[in-house]
Amino acid sequence: MFFPNTFVDALADYESARYVIFGVPFDNTSSYRAGSRWAPDAMRQASANFESYNPTFDLDLADLLIHDAGNLDTSASVDETLQDLYEDTKDLLSDGKLPIMLGGEHSLSFATVKACAESAGDDFGVLVLDAHFDLRDEYRGFKHNHACVSRNILSEVSKNLVSIGIRSGPEDEWVFARENKLKYYTADDVEAIGMVEVLKEALEWLDCSLLYLSLDMDALDPAYAPGLGTPEPFGLSARDVRTAVRTLAPFSMAFDIVEIAPEYDSGQTAMLGAKLMREFIAAHAASHR
Ligand code: MN
Ligand code: MN
Repeated sequence: MFFPNTFVDALADYESARYVIFGVPFDNTSSYRAGSRWAPDAMRQASANFESYNPTFDLDLADLLIHDAGNLDTSASVDETLQDLYEDTKDLLSDGKLPIMLGGEHSLSFATVKACAESAGDDFGVLVLDAHFDLRDEYRGFKHNHACVSRNILSEVSKNLVSIGIRSGPEDEWVFARENKLKYYTADDVEAIGMVEVLKEALEWLDCSLLYLSLDMDALDPAYAPGLGTPEPFGLSARDVRTAVRTLAPFSMAFDIVEIAPEYDSGQTAMLGAKLMREFIAAHAASHR
């Protein structure tokens, strides 16, 4: 199969770029179906299908300063990979870039969130779209397992975190979420009150101007996104997630898309991920022109 080695419309060099896309092909702690290591290149391939003009925001992505930095070298060790990723993200932020990470598994977000939080200071919040709480304190012997990422962010980086799309987790995660008064919306909440209202409430609660947006693709219903490590039915619609990305991008200082496992479908999940990434960039650029 032919894989182009860069995203379409990522025409800027690093120096001039505002948006820097990079892949992290790491899935070593994946508990059910591994394979998210193939997602960055599958998304690059899928991106070749899209027109550069975005009619919603009336802009052309080929005119924006987007750079594809390729894939990070990863180690077999999750701790080493996270440390490298943390340092690379710090460098991107100090160079004035908006980092866009394509996983790989969700454990990676701990490193990028930590780097962003240190750069942002107090005016910082995290919004996670996910079917899962990811609140385990360790899983299968790994503290930095993909099933623990929100717990690690809450305990070590920031309590200013909202999750949207939740519908799966062991009982103790639901108890932990209630007892610690975590802010979350289930996929059923979104269905009942609407994504627009959920986002309005979430932004009011977060009350910050620098947001980290993390999209675990299993937030989406597997009807839209079947190529996943841990698919969970009765999820968010593709339109609702697009609404979230478009609404939150203007406030975001970084973005990630994780947990796509392209071997489990015919390319549609990587295609949707690539499209959502382009919507993120377009929405951010439109609000900052
Ligand atoms: Mn997750
Ligand atoms: Mn998940």
